[in-house]
Amino acid sequence: MTSTRLGGLDDFRVPAALLVIAIHTGPLLSISPAANYLLTDILARLAVPFFFAVSGWFLLPRVQQQGMAALLPFLKKILILYSISACLYYPVKIYNHTFSWTSLPRELIFDGPFYHLWYFPALLLGTLLVCLSLRYLGRRGTAVLCAALYLFGLLGDSYYGLTQAIPPLHRLYEALFQCFDYTRNGLFFAPLFLLLGDRAGQNPPRHGRQRCWIGFGLGLTALIVEGLTVKYFNLARFDAFYLALPPCLYALLQGLRTLELPPRPGLRAWSGAIYILHPMCILLVRGFAKMSGQTALLVDQSLVHYAAVVGLSALLALPFVLLRRRPSTSARSRAWIELDAGALQHNLAVLRDRLPAGCTLMAVVKANAYGHGAVEIARLCAAEGVDAFAVATAQEGAQLRRAGIRGTILVLGYSGPELVPLLARCRLTQTVVSAEHARLLDGCGRRLQVHLKLDTGMHRLGIPWDDAASLASIYACQNLKVTGTFTHLARAGQRTLEGEHATEKQLACFRTATERLRCAGFDPGALHVQSSYGLLNYPEVTCAYVRLGIALYGCLSAPGDHPRLSLPLHPVLALRARVVQVRALCPGETAGYDGDFTAVRPCRVAVLAIGYADGWPRCLSHGVGQVLLHGKPFPVAGLICMDQMLVDVTEVPDVRPGDIATLIGRDGDAELTAAQAARDAGTIANELLSRLGPRLERILLP
Ligand SMILES: *Cc1c(COP(=O)(O)O)cnc(C)c1O
Repeated sequence: MTSTRLGGLDDFRVPAALLVIAIHTGPLLSISPAANYLLTDILARLAVPFFFAVSGWFLLPRVQQQGMAALLPFLKKILILYSISACLYYPVKIYNHTFSWTSLPRELIFDGPFYHLWYFPALLLGTLLVCLSLRYLGRRGTAVLCAALYLFGLLGDSYYGLTQAIPPLHRLYEALFQCFDYTRNGLFFAPLFLLLGDRAGQNPPRHGRQRCWIGFGLGLTALIVEGLTVKYFNLARFDAFYLALPPCLYALLQGLRTLELPPRPGLRAWSGAIYILHPMCILLVRGFAKMSGQTALLVDQSLVHYAAVVGLSALLALPFVLLRRRPSTSARSRAWIELDAGALQHNLAVLRDRLPAGCTLMAVVKANAYGHGAVEIARLCAAEGVDAFAVATAQEGAQLRRAGIRGTILVLGYSGPELVPLLARCRLTQTVVSAEHARLLDGCGRRLQVHLKLDTGMHRLGIPWDDAASLASIYACQNLKVTGTFTHLARAGQRTLEGEHATEKQLACFRTATERLRCAGFDPGALHVQSSYGLLNYPEVTCAYVRLGIALYGCLSAPGDHPRLSLPLHPVLALRARVVQVRALCPGETAGYDGDFTAVRPCRVAVLAIGYADGWPRCLSHGVGQVLLHGKPFPVAGLICMDQMLVDVTEVPDVRPGDIATLIGRDGDAELTAAQAARDAGTIANELLSRLGPRLERILLP
């Protein structure tokens, strides 16, 4: 699920792998030891952190969204790779007489059995540490922890010399070095880079391509200066850690992202195989040199040695590219939702353009963002600078926080006192619906931000707008801080005299109530009244927020609606399903449950892999609903089933299994809107969309 083309990350794996080999071979040693130091002890130090960051980039968002279970397949994969590597290299160690039982545990957990194989245990330990920390300490806590661990590791590494000045600290490190040889491991080194990758992946570059690369250039310069300084003062015990490394790497990741290259999964397998195999290749090249008497050329000539190792590693890694499992296209095999990021960006721009000065857009992403996918939509909005969101429940709000969404998240629905710890921990703003509700929330003893919900005529949730005593009692609650006051319009969508009159009355009540609060010395905070139809029919109302749901998604609730403001909004969602079978029916044959569809002539029906369990209403059965195929509408045949439905495609003979049907969206010149399908089903687009189920994968289109 990603909209930007991240091929830059794939491409950089090749130079990164070459740099790792350089670290272990010293390609410039026989030419200039100083140049070699610059290459292998300073510049090449970017390579391994880069690999950690790439893991963090792809793994951590998944874990934050789906929970720790999402970590298991990753850990399994790394454990398998680690086991293969250990099986490859322990025999070598036994043969070399460098194997020892006593150092086995520290090798397996921290230092790795051979050369750079510390990478695997570090990756395992580091991801576990970061994921647990994200869960229990939150994002900010984790950032602080990882930075602190890195600084601690740094003092035991490149800046070890400094600890001489503080003997207790020095003794602490000496004690720790009984447990591992280096601080460059999964505890101190890997976590920060894993987290850095996560951040780089979630925050698109703020600046253009050029500024990203200038930033990288500056970071690289700082890294070189720092590396030379450390060398000059002879501070280092080992030289994996530098202060300039994290910012330099971050700039590199952002720069690579701006390249927008197509992905190259083959390079992932290849660089991974090189990574595992090259130490073996070093041994093979040395062994061959010894046997053939070519040591002077193949080993002592450092560049030749390097080239030989690179060549052999690249060659031995080739089969892994060819054997690589093809990425599955399972996402589009059955039925799925396509999200048009461009349409959402367009709608945001169009809607913001119509907001009165000083008014902010609050994106309503309740009910899984009206079925679109709450995290996907909230992230897209956040990337466009939206910093206020509304959800229906505390759990929905917590899901957004876990996905890294910042800013205000207002819970529109009722939350009981049992949810106060979650509300407080996730810094959610809770709607207060009555004085009694306020008392219950206040009694939990946690500080909460709240918005007051006034009932001005909808008579759903809310404090009666003229109930001054209740309102005053809420302001007396010590733990509740009122940061906003709002109401909901019951009839903003009705353009009848009656509807307009009722709305004007609600608006007047709201104004009076908030003025009275101010006069009584209470601050009502940010005011908001309108939802989508409130904005479209009453654009002149000025408030702090407008709560936009359905309009943000580019839909009207019903196709016949003609709000006063007619804005060029684009639908964000398309719903598609695969044709999995096509069959011919003779006249008189029936299809589907209850024989509901009867062929009155020779017919062809297509089976679509989508049903009412996916949220497609069963009441669209037998011709009530339509789907698009080959750019034309076809009627639903028979009764819609739980997981499948039939379409009569007799009119177009070339419909085949594998074809893609469109249930909502555009296909060629034809279009079916959510509002049309909803009307056919006797409901509004809001209901139809919000019921689209979790079985449909959400695919983000750039
Ligand atoms: C759902 C909801 C909205 C958003 O409504 P749309 O008509 O989809 O824009 C706004 N305010 C409240 C209180 C809501 O419950």
